[in-house]
Amino acid sequence: MAPHVAVIGAGIIGLSTAVLAQEKIPGLQVTIISEHFSPHTTGDGSAGLWMPYCLKDTPQNKILRWSSKTYDHILKLWKSNEAGDVGISLIPVYKLTEKSGGEDMEQPEWTKVPLAHHIINSHQAQKLASLSDSKFTGGTHCISFTLEPTYFLPYLMQKFKVNGGKVLHQKVESLQQFCGQNYDVVINCTGVQAHNLVGDKSVQPVRGQVLRVNAPWVFHAALEGNEGNYIIPNKDNVILGGTQQEGNWNTKPDPADSMSIHNGCCKLMPGLKVRTS
Ligand SMILES: Cc1cc2nc3c(=O)[nH]c(=O)nc-3n(C[C@H](O)[C@H](O)[C@H](O)COP(=O)(O)OP(=O)(O)OC[C@H]3O[C@@H](n4cnc5c(N)ncnc54)[C@H](O)[C@@H]3O)c2cc1C
Repeated sequence: MAPHVAVIGAGIIGLSTAVLAQEKIPGLQVTIISEHFSPHTTGDGSAGLWMPYCLKDTPQNKILRWSSKTYDHILKLWKSNEAGDVGISLIPVYKLTEKSGGEDMEQPEWTKVPLAHHIINSHQAQKLASLSDSKFTGGTHCISFTLEPTYFLPYLMQKFKVNGGKVLHQKVESLQQFCGQNYDVVINCTGVQAHNLVGDKSVQPVRGQVLRVNAPWVFHAALEGNEGNYIIPNKDNVILGGTQQEGNWNTKPDPADSMSIHNGCCKLMPGLKVRTS
């Protein structure tokens, strides 16, 4: 009999893992067990931009391996006739900074991965700064992708079901409940909830909040340094961010954060200011 795999979690990691397992081992029985599904997973709120971000002390070799495999996978999908259904767009990304010295700074290993990645000199940065209300003096320009989870998650779920996958809508209270059940392998894809499910206190949240606005004239992403505000176009709206609040478990929108994101992004791209007349 074919082995039976349980995947806990239906976010981007759970669905990708489940579909990959089906594709790698034909005939494998795979069941996804999850408390929440799209559009109620973490990825549904995100813009889906490919760009290593907020990775702190993660070793460079791991970032390079993960980011290049992901980029290659997205590129393959982009070239396929499914690109529109999957929600992929190739976009220019400008990351600008008010700190000088960007031209001499050593770039991380992952910058070798995208189709293009250039350091912007101070002269170009000043020109780009004229598009904003900020005084940028350096930065980078990169060709990247957005792989929008609001499109990609339903695409993966459909693929999973067509491949014969089963879905259970339930919360797993403890891994003990799998004892004596008919699963050969259980894969934990619960994201930050692994903190509670398996008591791994090293898994901590970094709270992000975004605004989605209607600005169909925006076709490039603008990021303010590594941890500042960002503007990322998606197919149906534009994502404004962002917050990176370590250790914050609050999943509700915070009006003070909304205001700060709005003000910061309007400084970065003044045309986003809400028209009052
Ligand atoms: C505002 C914001 C913007 C972001 N922007 C980007 C971006 O542009 N690019 C990028 O690459 N990343 C971005 N990220 C990060 C990215 O969204 C996450 O890393 C990713 O979505 C995590 O996916 P996951 O599948 O690991 O977890 P989740 O999406 O959180 O999925 C976990 C799944 O496990 C289930 N689950 C959890 N516990 C249990 C349980 N006990 N029993 C059953 N089911 C359970 C949940 O219901 C859910 O289905 C952003 C994040 C945020 C918050």
